[in-house]
Amino acid sequence: MSDAELVLRSRRVITPEGTRAATVVVAGGTITAVLPYDAEVPAGALVEDVGDDVLLPGLVDTHVHVNDPGRTEWEGFWTATRAAAAGGITTLIDMPLNSIPPTTTVGHLRVKQRVAAGKAHVDVGFWGGALPDNVKDLRPLHDAGVFGFKAFLAPSGVDEFPHLDQERLGRSLAEIAGFGGVLVVHAEDPHHLAAAPQQGGPRYADFLASRPRAAEDTAVAHLIAQAKRLDARVHVLHLSSGDALPLIAEARAEGVRITVETCPHYLTLTAEEVPDGAAEFKCCPPIREAANRELLWRALADGTIDCVVTDHSPSTADLKTDDFATSWGGISGLQLSLSAVWTEARRRGHGLEDVVRWMSAHTARLVGLDTRKGAIETGRDADLVVFAPDETFTVDPAALQHRNRVTAYAGRTLHGVVRATWLRGERIVKEGEFTEPKGRLLGRDD
Ligand SMILES: [Zn+2]
Repeated sequence: MSDAELVLRSRRVITPEGTRAATVVVAGGTITAVLPYDAEVPAGALVEDVGDDVLLPGLVDTHVHVNDPGRTEWEGFWTATRAAAAGGITTLIDMPLNSIPPTTTVGHLRVKQRVAAGKAHVDVGFWGGALPDNVKDLRPLHDAGVFGFKAFLAPSGVDEFPHLDQERLGRSLAEIAGFGGVLVVHAEDPHHLAAAPQQGGPRYADFLASRPRAAEDTAVAHLIAQAKRLDARVHVLHLSSGDALPLIAEARAEGVRITVETCPHYLTLTAEEVPDGAAEFKCCPPIREAANRELLWRALADGTIDCVVTDHSPSTADLKTDDFATSWGGISGLQLSLSAVWTEARRRGHGLEDVVRWMSAHTARLVGLDTRKGAIETGRDADLVVFAPDETFTVDPAALQHRNRVTAYAGRTLHGVVRATWLRGERIVKEGEFTEPKGRLLGRDD
């Protein structure tokens, strides 16, 4: 332990065994020991005692649209990863679409990796994309280290990323199951969407009616049937409809390999409070009613929903028009996700241990990074967040780091302030001051 370079102490360290006063010893960017709070400090190590502030493992956000290259005016690796670091996220996995090119061939993956290199303030990995015509590219992408594949069951919002019909979904899923990969799915059924009233205009109630719960429920049912038939591993992205939860619980009880995520905006915002014309709240599937939100919280508590991720999906402000039908859909949540979720979680009697499980441990497990990320324990990367859970702040868009400072959280008072974030033993942000980028590009572990 004589080579320890850093020792972090806190009265409240969140470990897999619970919260306790502890001393976290770091060498070579890795946690080498978790000792009692008053343990002797190795000679020569930098010692930081954060006192009553909480030390928690860096969050792993497996659902981020960085959009770089191609739509860099929407977001980019530099700005997105700064927002992540400021929000306590130390690993993000980039979605294959909204960048041009999308991550659908190994060549395109290399383009994205080249662009991200040197700009990443946190560790970055990549999902691949499953399109109607790229089944032959899936295995090479898997071999090149993507963490899994994303598909849409309804139009994605961008022309270069078409959705899969049921037949093509089966084909892609069979291929992915053949090499032991995971397919992550935007589950809304296009026929239900087409049949729903498409009013357009600025009324949020009309937008909500245009993306009914049944569209999600049906798509989830189809996905479960395909996963069962092919013995494939699937993951439901950004679940909003609480009505799909019984189907998922039942499938899992039958042994179907299905996991589920939801997002901070579905857990913290409600349809009832979205002002008409307020396109910063538009996302697909939509933010639903308060009663639906409680179903999601219950499912997090009982384990039916595994994890919480941002689905950070920005655009330029001019694309957020007051017509909900044509406005860009996507909510920018990277910097605020931890505080937003914690604010609502604590009101419902959850502890920070629960939030860490949903936003760090389980997301690390989803992408197979759970030997390196997602917990404060010996052998893991020293990705650490100093968090003041009882402090509050009011969201000021000017203080956000993502490129276009559009936010659905403006003016809200949230609990929990990220004071500092450490990536592999180096402090990458403290009180709003950033170091040069120190993030690495990650590949799948296995
Ligand atoms: Zn997304």
